[in-house]
Amino acid sequence: MDELFREVILDHYRNPRNRSLVSGSDVRAEGQNPFCGDEVAVQLKLQDRHVGEVGVQGRGCSISQASASMMGELLKGKSLEEVRRLAGLFRGMLRGVDPAPAQLEELGELEALRGVRQYPIRIKCALLAWAALEEGLERYEKAKKRNS
Ligand code: ZN
Repeated sequence: MDELFREVILDHYRNPRNRSLVSGSDVRAEGQNPFCGDEVAVQLKLQDRHVGEVGVQGRGCSISQASASMMGELLKGKSLEEVRRLAGLFRGMLRGVDPAPAQLEELGELEALRGVRQYPIRIKCALLAWAALEEGLERYEKAKKRNS
């Protein structure tokens, strides 16, 4: 992997962002990857269907933890629709769909994980936080529908 990208990944791994648990969160998600023992937990507090506060905790390999940390940073201020779209872009990039330059810009630091697609067993690590988040969002939307 590119040296610069490796630096970005290690920085997020060593200094994960938004580690504090968000109390009173609207969206909660947890994911495990038994293959390398990765675990992530994500909380979002929403304001008008936009991401306000973000909490991301976890442990495991550098790819899974860096991806979760970058995700948390990227999500702040985004609408739930944007969050879903970004998740799709990121997943596509890891599955070999090259994002357009503007999309790459939207993904920001997550571009550093593009090289992971050369290591199929690590793709799950990179997607762990995102897959958990998507499940959490789905639960949130369903619960909302039930209550309305
Ligand atoms: Zn892993």
